Order: sequence, then structure tokens, then C-alpha cells
Amino acid sequence: MKYVDEFRSRDLAQGLARAIRAEADPARSYNLMEFCGGHTHAIFRYGVQDLMPDNVHFVHGPGCPVCVLPIGRIDNAMELAERHGVILCTYGDMMRVPAGRRRSLLKAKAEGADIRMVFSTQDALAIARKNPERQVVFFAIGFETTTPPTALAIVQAAAEGLENFSVFCNHVLTPAAIQHILESPEVREMGTLSIDGFLGPSHVSSVIGSRPYEFFAEEFQRPVVIAGFEPLDVMQAALMLIRQLNEGRHEVENQYRRVVTPEGNLKAQALVAEVLELRRSFQWRGLGQVPYSALKIKKPYAAFDAELRFEITPSDRGDVKGCQCPAILRGVKKPTDCKLFGTICTPENPLGSCMVSSEGSCAAYWTYGRFRHAGESTPEREAAA
Ligand code: SF4
Repeated sequence: MKYVDEFRSRDLAQGLARAIRAEADPARSYNLMEFCGGHTHAIFRYGVQDLMPDNVHFVHGPGCPVCVLPIGRIDNAMELAERHGVILCTYGDMMRVPAGRRRSLLKAKAEGADIRMVFSTQDALAIARKNPERQVVFFAIGFETTTPPTALAIVQAAAEGLENFSVFCNHVLTPAAIQHILESPEVREMGTLSIDGFLGPSHVSSVIGSRPYEFFAEEFQRPVVIAGFEPLDVMQAALMLIRQLNEGRHEVENQYRRVVTPEGNLKAQALVAEVLELRRSFQWRGLGQVPYSALKIKKPYAAFDAELRFEITPSDRGDVKGCQCPAILRGVKKPTDCKLFGTICTPENPLGSCMVSSEGSCAAYWTYGRFRHAGESTPEREAAA
């Protein structure tokens, strides 16, 4: 296949749906976690769940980088702009994510803080070059996909001697999060979360390759199929997982071979390894403290670390009362389990990160209109809100 339409072909989708129905064993269920929010949106946008038999379920995972950042870190970013007077640069997705006291970066900007939306780290560097009298901080978020551009910006700033540029680093790691979920009491002891296999992320895997998943596929005996973002990719990956489960295999397979290789992007990995290193632990929204799940700036580049350059007040502010984002990010609940979904909380008035982010599960449920009725107002919902 050469063109994107071919990955959305109705005929091919129906053929895959028939194959899945033929191979899925009616005597068991298949709970497949799509780690990545991009997959969640593909599933809802194209109605992939509707093409599955009743015993094949997609469980939504924590792979939305904006969603998993705890409120305290957003408060810290706002503090950089408001208390320290820096020009804070960040990606657009972060601007509307609710932070503490019902605020957001967008609201802080409206109140006068100098917060700028950028499309790349290069934009942030350009702002630093143009404003040598001001401190410029790049609020870096994201999984392994967005980490190399952050590392590159730090290397460039060091090479140019750009002393007014620094990075507030919040990059997180996919394999550590998957392992944490599999080790959680909800999976191991309570049985409230059943995961039979994983659809591995697309973009992340283009950087890290397929090898990093091999450890936990073997250790936790769960198959992983790295999948592309088009509906046929997701369906083919689901079929590959179902086959593995039927045959009692737990291997790492790569459906997205047109982009992902076993070793990944070695140049990007080397760049990241030069600049960034593992944090001992990092707080995730929904998952809590996850060991070795995030990156910080290495000592040789410490001059570009905003956490060292500025005094930042630690914050462990909790989520909005009633918001089920933490449970949704763990795969334990679905957006429609939240009493605020579609009533108080909509994309126009998001209360939690899962509704505002373009990769969030609540946004996926709402945007494609499949569950809008779930948000209809009732006296019970109004009372709960
Ligand atoms: S619907 Fe809104 S309040 Fe409910 S879990 Fe989603 S983001 Fe949170």
C-alpha cells in the first residue's frame, strides 16, 4: 500500500473484521490495551470497536503525554512564568490543560504571564536568541517521540552559549509505564484490570525500536504488537494479538514495519543519551510514583536545567474532585464512568487533562460523538457534580 486512503479501505476493514470474528475464541475474552492515545482516537474516529466481536475489548492506556503530567508540574511551569518572569514556551496541547485552582497556562497568559505556544524546540531557541535580556524556558513534555528535539535544543544552546535558555524537563518513558501497570495491584492482586496483550505505540517505537518491549513481554507473559495509527493498522494488530493469545505465545511483533525497526533510530537515541539520564522516580497522573520512568538533564548540561536555575516550589496538588482521569489513565475506568463526562466537563470546559488533550480518552469519546448521550444531564449527575 502506498497512500493513506488504502489504510482506511472499507473492504479491507471488513475482511479483517471477518478474520477477527473467525479467529476470536467465543469461549474467552480478549482485553487489548492500546497504550497510545493516538490509537484510542483511531479506534473511535473510525469505529474500530464496532467492528470487533463482543469478546474483543480495547482498554485505553496512559499513552497521552499531556494527560499523564500531574497538576503540580503544570503549576510549577506557571510559577516559572509568573514568579520568575520567564518567557515560557510549550506545545499547544499543554495550554488548556487544567492546573491547580481551575487555572491553566492559557488563563495565566490571559492574566499577563508571558507564555508562548511553539511548534518545535527550534521556535523556543529562536525566541531566546531574539530576547537576550529575558530568560526563556522550554516546558518539555512527552514520551520518547518528543525527547530527541529537546536534547538537540540543549546541545545547540550549549554550542551557541545561549545563556538565557533552559529546559523544564518532563519527558517520560513508555516501557517503564507499561511495566508499572502490569505490576499494579489492580492487575496482579485485585483482578480489577485485565490486560491480555498490548498494542505498542507507533511514534515512540520509531525512536526506541521494538526491542525494549521484549523484556516485559517475556517477564509478564503478555504479547505486544507495535501498531500504526490507521484503522487497518489497529485491526491487523488486534488480529495478530488474538493469534498470539490463541497460540499461547507472548512475543513482540511489529505490524508497523513500514516505520519501526528492531533497533529504532540510533542517532536520536545517542543524542538523548548524551544529554539526558534516568530519574530515580517520577510522579505520573494516575500511576503515582513510577521508578525510572522519566528523564532529567545530565550534569554536563546542568546549566540548561530550569529546575536548577530557578527555585521551584514542589507541589503535589491532587486532581479535580470527581474527575476520573487517574483511573482512566490506568485503564481501570472508561470516560463514560465519570459522572462529569459531557455535563460539567466538555472540550469547551475541560475539568481534566483527558478531555482537553488531542490524545485523551475523554476527548476521543466526546469528539466522535459515540457517547454524547452519556453526558446528558440528569438530576443525579447534577447532584454529583
Ligand atoms: S470527563 Fe472530564 S472530569 Fe471526567 S474523567 Fe474525563 S476529563 Fe476528568
